[in-house]
Amino acid sequence: MASFPITRTTTPKVKPADDELSFGKVLTDHMFLMDYQEEKGWHSPRIVPYGPLSLDPATSVLHYGQAIFDGLKAFRGDDDQIRMFRPDRHAERFNRSGQIMCMPELPVDIIRQSFDALVGLEHEWVPRKPGTALYLRPTIIATDVMLGVHPAHNYLYFLILSPVGTYYKEGVKPVKILASDTHVRAVKGGTGEAKTAGNYAASLAGQRDAANAGYSQVLYLDGVNRKYLDEVGTMNIMLRIGDEVITPPLTGTILDGVTRASTMQLMRDWGLRVTERQIAIEEVMAAGRDGTLKEMWGTGTAAVVSPVGTLGYKGEDVLINGGEIGDVTRRLYDAITGLQYGRSNDPHGWMSIVRKG
Ligand SMILES: *Cc1c(COP(=O)(O)O)cnc(C)c1O
Repeated sequence: MASFPITRTTTPKVKPADDELSFGKVLTDHMFLMDYQEEKGWHSPRIVPYGPLSLDPATSVLHYGQAIFDGLKAFRGDDDQIRMFRPDRHAERFNRSGQIMCMPELPVDIIRQSFDALVGLEHEWVPRKPGTALYLRPTIIATDVMLGVHPAHNYLYFLILSPVGTYYKEGVKPVKILASDTHVRAVKGGTGEAKTAGNYAASLAGQRDAANAGYSQVLYLDGVNRKYLDEVGTMNIMLRIGDEVITPPLTGTILDGVTRASTMQLMRDWGLRVTERQIAIEEVMAAGRDGTLKEMWGTGTAAVVSPVGTLGYKGEDVLINGGEIGDVTRRLYDAITGLQYGRSNDPHGWMSIVRKG
């Protein structure tokens, strides 16, 4: 592996106790930076003490949001080894987001090397308590200094790390979600398939309205017909009607979730029937009413799977599986976390060891 120049911090932070961790509030001691200039390409990779970036107020990302990010986790196994979950796939998706946002490609092996180098340096920050992890947030921002809408000629790549707590502090708890008939997230031809900053800014109003109505998340419908399920704000959606597991197809409006792909693979390995197809909200509500909607769950790096206990749409709520986590959801959660903490063998080679215990 390449080695990068490292400037070590002279003021290491006090690490919080594992059971005080939540999501994204504590950042580690160092960060990885690399610059891009049109004439030079990507250059000057380096690890430096974590700290503020200095940006001119006219920096283009601050005005026009040309920014991408990704999110993945490193886990400390029961055997004390540190493993990342599918870093290559995350690196490839990061580049896909970059293509959509008119950014220069950053080679996957350099992204991988930045993950390995920074997590390796910060290995003491990977928490030990079951269910905890070290979250990696790779990001690219446009750094041209000039007011004018255009794809930038200069960029900054940075990687920061945050120890995160157990998503399910009181056990896996089903959530109440609202299929919105007022807010949309993306349309075909837009940026729905990119992890780009503006998509999340655009989701805030829908999230606020759902919260005011007593729901914890928004389930977005397609932006054209307001009929077919798209995804949740930060999770892909899956449901089981009878014995068929259904998830919306990748048509450019939803994110190509790594957890989505991984859970689909596992269910197929288990012999379950998994179908990618458009599914209308009316069909889901009808299945909820007549009891054939057996379970529904979101997938994403933060929670792995998040069971949906109640689905609301146009003033009606359907209760799913008595508000309890379903069998397939539970099995997926156990299977993925089993791999992440090194408790089960890994036939697909999804785990990448950063550091031996
Ligand atoms: C990150 C994200 C997901 C989940 O993707 P994973 O790779 O499984 O973490 C789903 N939808 C959106 C909009 C996201 O931003």
